[in-house]
Amino acid sequence: MAVLVTGGAGYIGSHMVLALRDRDEQVVVLDNLSTGFREALAPGAILIEGDVGDRALVLALIKKHGIEAIIHFAAKIVVPDSVADPLGYYLNNTVKTREMIAAAVEGGVGQMIFSSTAAVYGNPQATPVAEDAALMPLSPYGTSKMMSEMMLRDAAFAHPLRYVVLRYFNVAGADPGGRSGQSTPNATHLIKVAVQTALGMRPSMQVFGDDYATPDGTCVRDYIHVSDLIGAHAAALAHLRHGGASDVFNCGYGHGYSVLEVIDAVKRLSGVDFKVDMAPPRAGDPASIIADAARIRHKLAWMPEHNSLDTIVRSALAWERQLLNRQS
Ligand code: UDP
Repeated sequence: MAVLVTGGAGYIGSHMVLALRDRDEQVVVLDNLSTGFREALAPGAILIEGDVGDRALVLALIKKHGIEAIIHFAAKIVVPDSVADPLGYYLNNTVKTREMIAAAVEGGVGQMIFSSTAAVYGNPQATPVAEDAALMPLSPYGTSKMMSEMMLRDAAFAHPLRYVVLRYFNVAGADPGGRSGQSTPNATHLIKVAVQTALGMRPSMQVFGDDYATPDGTCVRDYIHVSDLIGAHAAALAHLRHGGASDVFNCGYGHGYSVLEVIDAVKRLSGVDFKVDMAPPRAGDPASIIADAARIRHKLAWMPEHNSLDTIVRSALAWERQLLNRQS
């Protein structure tokens, strides 16, 4: 019996594969290497280079390796890109997920964990936001994930499939052992950009909008350490393996930081006072989004271990330094 990890060569997926291999699980990774890296793969994991939208390939993998559960990370994840290329996002994130679910149903895979996002909530009316809040995504990225959630729910109703949807808040940081981290060269996420600027890889960075209805005018997000997010996946897998019911869980800590607070933390921990420019708001960005994470704490007994912005930023800095040393 093996676990299929789609997108397992990517940032979050590679941390999942490490965690599964640390427990000696059999792991098959399906990744098209569009943003992932072969080197990110933990030893002992089998890499199949291919597309999650290739239903025949996914079905063949399921049969060949006796896949028991699928953890589906593979997706495009950049909010402004999705605004510029909505049809590309719906094809990649929604249509291909449909093919993957169809292969799972046909191949008799009974368990699936799906990477969703806080972007499904849009600008929530109440914050912290709980799982039963209205879904009103502001971007095609959020909508592409919301539609995948719905397909999974309906497929699980009609077929012998149980699932856990994990709605990620803002994932950042790197493996505490330095084995993996965010490696995308042109990554757009705030902590990665700030860390790269601190290390001199960018001359300056921009703050997208300082007139939001937040305490300092910049957007507030709930940053979660990638290792704690992987802990949530491990808890979800155990839940499904023990026959647990399908469910949806927020993955965040329940408190947020503004863009300026994150930049201050990166400046303080790196010791570099880098240049920051104010810029117009980015399309599709909600002002503030913070998780109500009570459900996952209670139902899956999820216990975060790295709940601190400083810990997240330190690990991101350490990883970026490692990437720089590899280049030189
Ligand atoms: N952000 C910023 N400058 C950057 C990158 C991001 O001001 O170079 C802001 C962005 O507008 C948002 C927050 O940081 O308010 C988090 O953005 P990110 O892209 O990291 O994650 P998202 O919330 O879009 O998934």
